[in-house]
Amino acid sequence: MAVLRSFVNGAWQAPADGVPVRDAVTGEEVARVSSDGIDLAAALEYGRRVGGPALRELTFHQRAALAKSLALMLREHRDELYALSARTGATRSDAMIDVDGGIGVLFAYASRAKRELPNDTVVVEGAVESLSRGGTFVGQHILAPRTGVAVQINAFNFPVWGPLEKLAPALVAGVPTIIKPASQTAYVTARLVELIVESQILPPGSVQLVCGSVTELLDHLDEQDSLSFTGSAATARRLRSHPAIVARAVRFNAEADSLNCSILGPDAAPGTPEFDLYVAQLVTEMTAKAGQKCTAIRRALVPVAWMDAVVGAVHERLQAVVVGNPADETVRMGALASLEQREEVRRAVKELAAGCRIVSGDPEHVSVTGADPERGAFLSPILLRCDDSGRPEPHTVEAFGPVSTVIGYHDAAEAIALAARGRGSLAGSVVTGDPDFARTVVVGLAPWHGRILVLDRTAAAESTGHGSPLPALVHGGPGRAGGGEELGGVRAVLHHLQRTAVQASPDMLGAITGRWVSGGTRRTDEHPFRKSLAQLRVGDAVVAGPRTVTLEDIEHFANFTGDTFYAHMDEAAARANPFFDGRVAHGYLVLAFAAGLFVQPDPGPVLANYGIDNLRFLTPVYPGDELTVTLTCKQISPRDGDYGEVRWDTVVTKQDGSVVAAYDVLTMVAKEWTP
Ligand code: NAP
Repeated sequence: MAVLRSFVNGAWQAPADGVPVRDAVTGEEVARVSSDGIDLAAALEYGRRVGGPALRELTFHQRAALAKSLALMLREHRDELYALSARTGATRSDAMIDVDGGIGVLFAYASRAKRELPNDTVVVEGAVESLSRGGTFVGQHILAPRTGVAVQINAFNFPVWGPLEKLAPALVAGVPTIIKPASQTAYVTARLVELIVESQILPPGSVQLVCGSVTELLDHLDEQDSLSFTGSAATARRLRSHPAIVARAVRFNAEADSLNCSILGPDAAPGTPEFDLYVAQLVTEMTAKAGQKCTAIRRALVPVAWMDAVVGAVHERLQAVVVGNPADETVRMGALASLEQREEVRRAVKELAAGCRIVSGDPEHVSVTGADPERGAFLSPILLRCDDSGRPEPHTVEAFGPVSTVIGYHDAAEAIALAARGRGSLAGSVVTGDPDFARTVVVGLAPWHGRILVLDRTAAAESTGHGSPLPALVHGGPGRAGGGEELGGVRAVLHHLQRTAVQASPDMLGAITGRWVSGGTRRTDEHPFRKSLAQLRVGDAVVAGPRTVTLEDIEHFANFTGDTFYAHMDEAAARANPFFDGRVAHGYLVLAFAAGLFVQPDPGPVLANYGIDNLRFLTPVYPGDELTVTLTCKQISPRDGDYGEVRWDTVVTKQDGSVVAAYDVLTMVAKEWTP
């Protein structure tokens, strides 16, 4: 039987022999897994020496384009990945969660990076901090890619989504990755990495694969590397306290198991749409991927009065779940990943049964469609009921399979307290139509949860469900869930960057960040609206004015636009307002006058005004005040095509020097222009 190859140092390597991995459905050997003879220290070094520099040469947008290309390429190979996934026990819809979900994360990070990160190699974060009275000393944060390798260790249950949800942010960040799949399903991940390598989309050294043990690799992690782990809480604990990780402060992220809860609101009585949603969701979470989801509902917290009704309704639905070979179209729930995994779950159910009662399913027997129940890792869905909410078992024992426990509660405070007994979860849900209950429970649950779904009849049709982590939202949770935050939009990219505070003069800071900084040098030689992107430099500026604002201007503007708000029209009423000493000019009139002052009217390289950011009106403008505007090119962001975005720092002052309005004007400017 073939031994799975690892891809390290730019080449595929196969150890002579390894540990057999079996088909979850038939028990046949699929592959062997080992990392014997693979030089793991050299793999790390190759990533740092070859992959890192190649990725860091690219901008965030260029790397985002690579992520998108990967997603497009993998989309063409979905059927092959689904077929391999079936051997892990996954039904077609289970495989879609894994495969399409993983590809979706690549797409999501590609488009987010384009929108939210600069087309540059560093991120400039937050505002410039003023650090001195005279304005000659300022500070700002920058984030630059770390120069190490992102090592990822994955759990067996998501052989495609797991590696891709970790790869996408690291790739966009410019950090090379070493993927270590869980041995049980490593053959799926190995094919995924083969596809990535064969496509040659990524620079050499960006992605490596190690099948088998990586224990020795951990010794070689250094200060710039990171380790991202998904798996059991026990392994997370072991890795977190690994001497190299502790000694070198290696960045460590853990996504571990958690005893997620779903709370049924007291309003959601049997017969309401919310009751039905709750029951349907619980059954889905128990049976999707045969319950082998870190986010699955393990604890169903329901009002004591509805316990019988919930148990009855869930039992009835579970009876209709066909268990068996995913190749059979009638099958709704496939096998667990391995016979060993089934034994683990049976052991956990026994532990749970010490404090709870099995009310649906039988851990030892299941009717199986299209496969041999002895050779495949099949298990019936199992619902337990806990009538003594003081029992510890349902709050401490994870049965990583199609297993949930119904627990009764009396009021919101008790539901919150029971949820917290899980000591930290990835995901929770509250199914209710009562906004007060929802607010009380969400606020109570929040300190213990990474994500909370509130489900009601309004959201039901479009809800993504309790169990689905989404690239835009945090995936991770406190305490037992590992204390990590793997996903969550651009935050996941920042995890791979180093945040550094830079202190300098405005010009020096501007040279480092590529942005003009207030207090820095301005050049006013030629009107900047006459310059294409090829000529324009940050710091190019125009100072225009003064223009006197008259009472006639204010009245004209008021009548013309219809904005006859009393502060512009009624002297006495304006004076009575705590902000004004009399009738004031409209803020929008000030903006319009400022535009009239700074604009260069002839056709030129400035193509369009497309918005204003950070607008503040700071000092009232009265009739007789004289306005001056200073417009300074602050940031130039070329886009694909013939133009780019230019951000202009804009300050409107009046005769005494006070700032009337401050904002950023955004324009599109042509890359080339000949008069
Ligand atoms: P596991 O036994 O902890 O294994 C997870 C990974 O760690 C595997 O790749 C495993 O490799 C590796 N590993 C084990 N011991 C190691 C060591 N000493 N040094 C380095 N690597 C080591 O967990 P599992 O049984 O595969 O996964 C099931 C658990 O994962 C469940 O508890 C589930 O809740 C959790 N999970 C969490 C999430 C999440 O996002 N939070 C997602 C999925 C699963 P081998 O396979 O080669 O041993």
